[in-house]
Amino acid sequence: MVMSMKKAKIRLYVEHALGEGQSVPLTRAQAHYLFSVMRLGEGAEVLLFNGRDGEWLAEVAEAGKRTGMLTCRHRTRPLQLPPDVWLMFAPIKKARTDFIVEKAAELGAARILPVRTDFTNSERIRRDRLQAHAIEAAEQCGGTYVPPVEELQPLEKLLAEWPKDRRLMFCDEALVGAGAALEGFERGGKWAILIGPEGGFSDAERERLRALPFATAVSLGPRILRADTAAVAALTLWQSTLGDW
Ligand code: SAH
Repeated sequence: MVMSMKKAKIRLYVEHALGEGQSVPLTRAQAHYLFSVMRLGEGAEVLLFNGRDGEWLAEVAEAGKRTGMLTCRHRTRPLQLPPDVWLMFAPIKKARTDFIVEKAAELGAARILPVRTDFTNSERIRRDRLQAHAIEAAEQCGGTYVPPVEELQPLEKLLAEWPKDRRLMFCDEALVGAGAALEGFERGGKWAILIGPEGGFSDAERERLRALPFATAVSLGPRILRADTAAVAALTLWQSTLGDW
């Protein structure tokens, strides 16, 4: 019965270092959330993580209206890093871009890079907003790592500066219906996944991407997917073939 279930503890992302006995000051927004919205008082327990030190059980030491202090007790989970896979995608409409960032954090992307391509629909992003979505996703799904969300940058610039030891999984809608092409690679390698915008990739981009020695063009099945669906499908495919699933 639901009534007999122990109430799940609130998980909170903080910037502060975490360790045994460590005092962790709360921001105004966090104090408001814990004490006014969730009605926690002194002595209540919450779970904290900062993306570096794992997850910690902490106790409310001071509860004010706009301030507060927690004290770390013990570590409840070690830091669990995702595999080294980046998600690169061309931003689309706001709510769908939020969705992509949230799902990338849940599915275990190490870094999220919005890129501008020839047919990118959205010229601007709110990086801080997207980062907040990644944090919220980690808070909700029990993650101990938060992927950094980078500023929007031209795809061309990233390709020109491409690290030699990283492979690129180029999700090419022109390959619709062809088999996936991730066989033959070993787990544990460094990768990036690239998803195009609603308009897809331009012919020039496709030609350029297919010629890159570090790129593997991949099909996501016999149907054309919307960009947000494609991001989830690509991460799922990559994680189950080459990642930590
Ligand atoms: N307007 C384009 C589709 C773009 S879909 C067209 O009609 O051709 C948005 C992005 O999702 C694509 O750029 C690609 O990166 C990815 N994608 C969608 N479906 C795919 C598929 N079946 N195979 C590979 N990539 C796909």
